Amino acid sequence: MVNQERTKAFGKLVEAAPAQIPKLPWGKDFEKDKFLAPDFTSLEILSFAGSGIPAGINIPNYDDIRQNEGFKNVSLGNVLSAAAPKERIPFIRSEDQEVFEKYKDEAFEVQVGLHELLGHGCGKLLQETEPGKFNFDHKNPPTSPITGTPVETYYKPGETWGSVFGGMGPSYEECRAECVAMSLCPDYGILKIFGFGNGQEDIEGEAGSVLYACYLQMARAGVTALQFWDPNSRKWGQPHMQARFAILKVFLEAGADFCTLHHTQPDLSDLEIHLDKTKIQSHGRPAVNSFLQKLQIYKATADLAAGKKLYEDYTNVGEWYAGKLRPQVLAQAKPRKVFVQANTFLEGGKVVLREYEASPEGMIRSFVEREYI
Ligand SMILES: [Zn+2]
Repeated sequence: MVNQERTKAFGKLVEAAPAQIPKLPWGKDFEKDKFLAPDFTSLEILSFAGSGIPAGINIPNYDDIRQNEGFKNVSLGNVLSAAAPKERIPFIRSEDQEVFEKYKDEAFEVQVGLHELLGHGCGKLLQETEPGKFNFDHKNPPTSPITGTPVETYYKPGETWGSVFGGMGPSYEECRAECVAMSLCPDYGILKIFGFGNGQEDIEGEAGSVLYACYLQMARAGVTALQFWDPNSRKWGQPHMQARFAILKVFLEAGADFCTLHHTQPDLSDLEIHLDKTKIQSHGRPAVNSFLQKLQIYKATADLAAGKKLYEDYTNVGEWYAGKLRPQVLAQAKPRKVFVQANTFLEGGKVVLREYEASPEGMIRSFVEREYI
């Protein structure tokens, strides 16, 4: 997608948000009264100074500000579309390599759009905003869709999402936003907004292939996430990766062999993800919805105890994952892609753009010739 198309698709998605958000697995008691449409832009960047280059940025991170003032999303268009040389993708079945290669970028666009624009934007926090004042019916509290009983917890004056959920919060929230993407991408009306298909359900068509690639990509990200788990401290080093591992577990538990990890070799060197695309609607999406509902309700009601138990269960790396799968993920890891960034120079009063060849030498030359003031 080029910038203009992306900005247009994101615009249509934000416009459609009031119709899409009620499809999420909670009632209006747990949703903001009014969806705060984010400001968004897709930019081409000349250079990005930092240890890594993100595909998109969503600010601010303070949920209390996001609740009341809204948020802003910036997609970095030429980061999203930067092409890497074609190579066989580990853990994807031979028969899926082609469809995955063909639609992975489109799938990532859909995932990022839903994650950033609707995922982080949706969901209410039940708060006592000042002593005795509530942003929900305190005398008649909403019924939790998980327990079927009125909710008992909420944010007290001065408490915020960050202060209650603490260090676990960022990854938990990333997981909630990723689950929103996985919950909504099987909606063919939404895929049509992104320019895929005609809104009719058709898993064999273009929209269906984008959807299949979305789910496959998430499952694969859950496997490769293990690179970012440290066996010594038994801790996760990257919030998004921890989130994707949780979602892989949700897929694996969806039943009816919706998603399985196949292998015949004891060292898992031939491990492949088998994901049944005909069961995304019947098994994958409902499993995501049930998990997402818990993430949302525990967040909305400041229920740290339940949220912590759920998230720790799903992100716990068991013996098989730590001892067997992680070493295989490391063995098959490809060197991380680097971006070769251009520089500008003043020559005879004119700004000149200098680009570099896509090689390690090119990248080093680009750094050497960049002057930091
Ligand atoms: Zn996010």
